[in-house]
Amino acid sequence: MKIYINGRFYPKEKAVISVYDHGLLYGDGVFEGIRAYAGNIFKLREHIDRLYESARTIMLKIPIAKERLVQEVIKTVRANRLKDAYIRLVVTRGIGTLGLNPFKCGKPQIIIIADKIVLYPREFYEEGLAVVTVPTQRNLAEAVSPRVKSLNYLNNIFARIEANNAGVHEAIMLNSQGYVAECTGDNIFIVKKGVLKTPPLYVGVLEGITRDEIIAIAKRLGVEVQETVFTRHDVFNADECFLTGTAAEVIPVVRVDGRVVGTGKPGKLTRRFMAAFHQIVRTVGVQV
Ligand code: PMP
Repeated sequence: MKIYINGRFYPKEKAVISVYDHGLLYGDGVFEGIRAYAGNIFKLREHIDRLYESARTIMLKIPIAKERLVQEVIKTVRANRLKDAYIRLVVTRGIGTLGLNPFKCGKPQIIIIADKIVLYPREFYEEGLAVVTVPTQRNLAEAVSPRVKSLNYLNNIFARIEANNAGVHEAIMLNSQGYVAECTGDNIFIVKKGVLKTPPLYVGVLEGITRDEIIAIAKRLGVEVQETVFTRHDVFNADECFLTGTAAEVIPVVRVDGRVVGTGKPGKLTRRFMAAFHQIVRTVGVQV
């Protein structure tokens, strides 16, 4: 495996960075998870745009131009001879002192890893997933904005531990007002009386690339979409529920906090979105 660090490729064992990098010391940095399907990198430019937006918010200047980074990602996938891949693009604050001050760090470091993805077992796509709501609230938007895809994922990791403790693979996180926000690595959608609903960004969620694609697909299919706040009550009483994310794609949810959602099987609209999404990812994208 060839791993890209700051313009050069290294074998996996030699792909190392400094213990003084603030990415390690403080989780100070930003990242993206990106997929390639059949030689097409899905929404690569959208991921790069989001990375630069996350970086701007934390006042981290990515040392190369966007288009160059697009080319470096393509180069990394090519160098690893992958057609289907999960790409992890990381930009750390860089090597600094033991103090917190980010402006004492040197140049931000760019890391690109292209590997295979381990998805949920197939049965979860066919049968649906059980999830729970967890006590850990999603980060307050005014504290650490969930819109920033930062290397500091402890908020999500807390929630994932709580999901594990409950014996499930994903957790619904609420915001400080009790509204449904998102899951630890996925956005959430519900369907009620034919209307597709997902929490608006101001609730405190990541603007998922998959979320945006599902909204676009819904519009094409003529399905009404509402970006609206909702609570656990709405999830318990939804006709359908599903999660979206680069790694998970579109995955049905059939049980929440012990309540069966809808019929207890992946819903009809959910299956339409799954099919439409699978078709799109294999036919569009930046060619490797
Ligand atoms: N929410 C969170 C917290 C995430 O980590 C992710 C995965 N990046 C998502 C939502 C889904 O975003 P995307 O569709 O861009 O992968």
